[in-house]
Amino acid sequence: MSKKRQRPSPPKPVCVYCGAHPGVTKDHVIPKCLFSTMPVVGTITVPVYKECNERKAKDDTYLADTLQSHFLAQQHPVARSQAEGRFLRSVAKHSSDFAEALVEQYVPLLAADPNALPDDGLTEITVDPTRLTHVLQLITRGLYAHYLKPKRLPPDCFIGVKRVSEEEMVKLLPRLTSVTIHGLHRIGEDVVIVRYSISQSNPVESLWLIVFYQSIVFTVLTSMGKPSAH
Ligand SMILES: [Zn+2]
Repeated sequence: MSKKRQRPSPPKPVCVYCGAHPGVTKDHVIPKCLFSTMPVVGTITVPVYKECNERKAKDDTYLADTLQSHFLAQQHPVARSQAEGRFLRSVAKHSSDFAEALVEQYVPLLAADPNALPDDGLTEITVDPTRLTHVLQLITRGLYAHYLKPKRLPPDCFIGVKRVSEEEMVKLLPRLTSVTIHGLHRIGEDVVIVRYSISQSNPVESLWLIVFYQSIVFTVLTSMGKPSAH
């Protein structure tokens, strides 16, 4: 008899993203393509189903392209180097959906007028908000599962994502980087800053602030049902 049989194997984890399929692969919650080099501390992985992982990977690239090409992120050295390197290569190869949108929208303009690019660069590119919302919902599920282990957000909970405006952000950022705040996580040279608070009475209710490249901020609210307007 093999000694291996004496200890039963632990139960297989369930996919953090869908809560239905087995979590047979590990996904990097904060997309790898946001970093130049993966941070030594702060890399977050969760168990996910293979297909959920592959589906998110495409949206990860979309999110990274969108953020890195945003004029606000150009102050951040990692965003800038990634935008100049990987993004331009993917434009050349037409290998990302964002790059495809860029080529479709700008090539005809530039053909007519070589100076047609607006001053703020690529921010005029039409992005698909549904897609960004979706990937930020998955990132929130992943962050929640990681920071509040073994708790998980239920598959059917509401996850509302909102981009914080530049004016609101100016007020928020100093507070976000203050050391007195709990649940503050700075990942990879501040490529991502995560702050969250969880309701004491109902752990499904949580509020997240996710800051990319110290400049682009999303708030995420989770709750059991869609919250009613006040
Ligand atoms: Zn899944």
